[in-house]
Order: sequence, then C-alpha cells, then structure tokens
Amino acid sequence: MKTYQVDKNGFYGEFGGAYIPEILHQCVEDLQQNYLRIIESESFQKEYRALFRDYVGRPSPLYFAKRMSEKYGCRLYLKREDLNHTGAHKINNTIGQILIAQQMGKTRIIAETGAGQHGVATATVCALMNMECIVYMGKTDVERQHINVQKMEMLGATVVPVTSGNMTLKDATNEAIRDWCCHPSDTYYIIGSTVGPHPYPDMVARLQSIISEEIKTQLMEKEGRDYPDYLFACVGGGSNAAGTIYHYIDDERVKIVLAEAAGEGLESGRSAATIHLGKVGIIHGARTLVMQTPDGQIEEAYSVSAGLDYPGIGPVHANMAAQHRSTVMAIEDDEALAAAFELTRIEGIIPALESAHALAALSKVNFKPEDVVVLTVSGRGDKDMDTYIKYKNRVK
Ligand SMILES: *Cc1c(COP(=O)(O)O)cnc(C)c1O
Repeated sequence: MKTYQVDKNGFYGEFGGAYIPEILHQCVEDLQQNYLRIIESESFQKEYRALFRDYVGRPSPLYFAKRMSEKYGCRLYLKREDLNHTGAHKINNTIGQILIAQQMGKTRIIAETGAGQHGVATATVCALMNMECIVYMGKTDVERQHINVQKMEMLGATVVPVTSGNMTLKDATNEAIRDWCCHPSDTYYIIGSTVGPHPYPDMVARLQSIISEEIKTQLMEKEGRDYPDYLFACVGGGSNAAGTIYHYIDDERVKIVLAEAAGEGLESGRSAATIHLGKVGIIHGARTLVMQTPDGQIEEAYSVSAGLDYPGIGPVHANMAAQHRSTVMAIEDDEALAAAFELTRIEGIIPALESAHALAALSKVNFKPEDVVVLTVSGRGDKDMDTYIKYKNRVK
C-alpha cells in the first residue's frame, strides 16, 4: 500500500534522511536504533500518558464552533491545543523527548528556539525532570521576545544569545548542532518541530500524534464517525500539522489543507512560504524544500508570526505537497491578522498568530454544509498581543 509515512531509511519519497557531520553519526544512529523501542515500551507510555493527563491537561477539547460553522457553511470543530500547559502543542513533543533522553542516560539538554515557545516548553520539562537546560536563541529574537527569555531563566535554563548570521532561528539551530558535536556523549538535543535528521521528523510526528488520536475518539462521540472530511493546520516546521494528520495520513477520504506564511506576499521577497517558493536542498540535516538564493545560500524567512518563519519545512510535508496529498495555501500577514480578530469576536478565543494562518485558509475552500472540518488551534494568542494591538490601531 502507498504510504506517506517515513520509510525504513528515514525518507519520505525523495525528502528526509540524515545529512550530518561525522562526529554526530553515533548519536543519531543510537537514536535511530532506540526511539521506536522506547516510545512503544510500556513504561514510557505509562509515564507519557500520565503527564499528558495531569500535567499538560489532555485530552484537549474538540470544540464545535457553532457561529464559525454558520459563517463558513460547514461543521467546524476546533482542536484546542491552545489550552495545553505553556499555551501550545509544543509541550506534547518536549515531554516525550525528555523521557527518551532519560531512557538513553543523557544528563544535559540543549534546544534551539526562535520566538521562544519551544525554548519555554523545553525549559519547563527540564525543570520538571531536574535536568540541565541550555537554549540557543538568536540575539535578535532574545531582544524581540523578552518575556519568553525571562520565563526560560525563571525555569532555570541558560539562554545563550547567538550572534552569527541574521541572529534568528536558523542561526540558533546551527549553534545548537555545534554544541551537540562538542558533547555527543552526555547531551540530548530536543528539536522543536518535524525537522532535522532522521529520526527527528518521525519521532516528533509520533509524539504529536496524540492530537489526531484524540480527534478520532472525539469525532466518534460527536459525529458518529471517526474521520473528518477536512483537516486544517498551519505549518512552520510542521509539527502541529503532522500531529493533526498522523492517523489520517493514508486515509484519502480526509482532505488535508495546510497554511504556510506568505508574509507580505509570495512575490514580495519577504515571506516564509517554503513549500511554494523553496527548492530542494539540505537544511539542518534533512533533504527538503529550502528557501534559497540562486547560488544555494539559505534565505532568511519572514512572517509576522515568529513561529512560522523557518526557511525549511518538515520532509513529510514536502513529500505530501509534491504528491498532491495536501493542499498548501500561502496566507499573508494581513489575512492571518484579520482571521485572529474574527475568531476572537465570533467565538471568544484569541488564537496564536500561527494558528490564525490556518483560520484564514477556511475562506479559500468551498464547503458543503454537511462537511465535517477539524482545525487545530496550535496555540493561544497571549504572546501576540503587541502585534494584535498594533494591527488594530493601523486598521482603525
Ligand atoms: C511553534 C509554533 C507553530 C509552528 O510550529 P510547527 O512545528 O509547524 O507546528 C505553530 N503554532 C504555534 C502556537 C507555535 O508555537
């Protein structure tokens, strides 16, 4: 049977793999050999599920959005990852990876972060498990995202400002990989999305797959069938989307609509629409679509939403788009901002700007009234209030 899941060599079609420096070979190989055994073990599942329930607050609700449904002419459900501890889906992944790190006998945790959301989720689980935590963050982002830096420090993490390149996420990731190369024996690298060398994209997708596992049960209760007609999610690196679609990826009854950030427009030169604009290349250990200059230098990505401005994309999504399994919409900054205000006013939910990109994609599809649509609200909007206030003053 045709599958969109990873193959045994770590590839999704022509995308994926593990393109890593020699010094990390042993580390990555150890993880490849052990991640499935650990994730599937009874002791891991027991602790992971207990933390989901009592610490994260799972299952997250599947909310029937009545007024939004009327507006868009379908049966719209919102998967409320915004209600998780730390305010987004990212904690699903960091809880899983810290348990894997413990099982592998590692004592030191490193992570990269852009806007700081993954850094906070990592610092949180390190506090919980009493592990040393070092977070690499571009100096530009350290200045832009001060509250998240303060949260990470309060949680006991060391935040290292990175001053190479444009001083943003891509540079922070390079620095984290450099650290890992220097401490391969005691250090575990918690990657924040479905990116990086195999097995990270598959491991992160599995750890986020709780989202679609819950959707199945919840839809069965509410609709009497366990699959929707459409799934919607935003994509930065692709982890909340990968979790949302995981158990439906090979079920062709379910249409998959993904929203990537077009920033100021696809043609503007200021965008993060990697699937629309990227060319095949290698970024952070994976072969995937990459925003790059004609001579192959990685281009800086831009979006009003800091969680979506990554110049690569998870290999699972590059492959699904290439095979036309998913429909990928490029959503501009202003469309996302308007969608955030709409959800807030219609349903009383202030979404993260990233999630607002998925909401903005709703207006681009013609639904039938009986279509069941599930859209993942990946996070809450507290962190985006400054941007929302600025936008409101601009359009007033
Ligand atoms: C980080 C983040 C994203 C983007 O990351 P993915 O790996 O693509 O899910 C989306 N939404 C929120 C709220 C985030 O914090």
